[in-house]
Amino acid sequence: MTAALAAQIPSRAGGAEVTSAPARSVLTKATGFMSEYDFTLNPYSGCSFGCSYCYAAFFSPSQENRDAWGQWVRVKENAVDLLSKRKHGSLDGKRIYMGSVTDPYQPIERKLRLTRKLLEILAGEPSPEYPRLLTEPHKPKLVVQTRSPDVARDWGLFRRIEENGGCAQVNITVTTDDEEVRRTFEPSCPPNEARLRAAAKAQAEGVAACVTMTPLLWTSDPRAFADRLLATGVRKFIIQPFHYQRGKFVASTREKAVDLMARKLDCDRAVFRERYLAHYNEAYAVLKAKLEKDGAELGEGKDGFKPPF
Ligand code: SF4
Repeated sequence: MTAALAAQIPSRAGGAEVTSAPARSVLTKATGFMSEYDFTLNPYSGCSFGCSYCYAAFFSPSQENRDAWGQWVRVKENAVDLLSKRKHGSLDGKRIYMGSVTDPYQPIERKLRLTRKLLEILAGEPSPEYPRLLTEPHKPKLVVQTRSPDVARDWGLFRRIEENGGCAQVNITVTTDDEEVRRTFEPSCPPNEARLRAAAKAQAEGVAACVTMTPLLWTSDPRAFADRLLATGVRKFIIQPFHYQRGKFVASTREKAVDLMARKLDCDRAVFRERYLAHYNEAYAVLKAKLEKDGAELGEGKDGFKPPF
């Protein structure tokens, strides 16, 4: 870790406790849901957004960390050194998915700019902080996944990767058109409208964008939601259902969140799963018809997450 980075690490960010530790690697061979990528790239472990349905919690290093998901973030303090050493050789043409188990633009990123530093390495951008690391740019095929409009800070780096002959796409997640649902399932995330504005801005700035409804929680008006999605200018969408009973949920918002959605679905817990799936299927059919009528693509589940280039 450089002294400059160490000095910047705060003890808390986004309501979570922040620690730092060296990681064995920053690029990890992609497997499972991401198996069509070559690598996943995560600057942090843990995530202060702490979404109540987050599957990444299961990859926490301990049960204690799983139970406290959303309340801790660990900075991979040697991430810049690891990526710049090119242990994996050239990343030209390599499909990289950034943010498989953390959000690279969660609040700590504003202070630390670690995601940005990794993008600078991929883009071969000069960084006054790391002059000795200035190397040839890579030409990766990069997808960055986030729930934060803060990604807009780095549009220039996305474009630079494209100019260098690589590919870059930002996936921005929006899970509902209902802010009450969003606040209950994702209390620490930015509002949906801010994320949709970021997606529109990406399009306007010439950055490839995709809106991921992953998971789609609840839609109060699927037709109006489709119109709002299309109004961003984005023409790539991915959707997948919310898995109510997969593994253990994060404790902090689970009960409240499921109760709220049961109320929206006008059912009790006993039939929640069936009601939710019926709602999802209805919303999916409306969204698919409306989005595709406008020339947009709607992928679903693992197939939808296939590398776009
Ligand atoms: S933003 Fe992503 S990684 Fe973070 S808690 Fe939410 S789903 Fe998990």
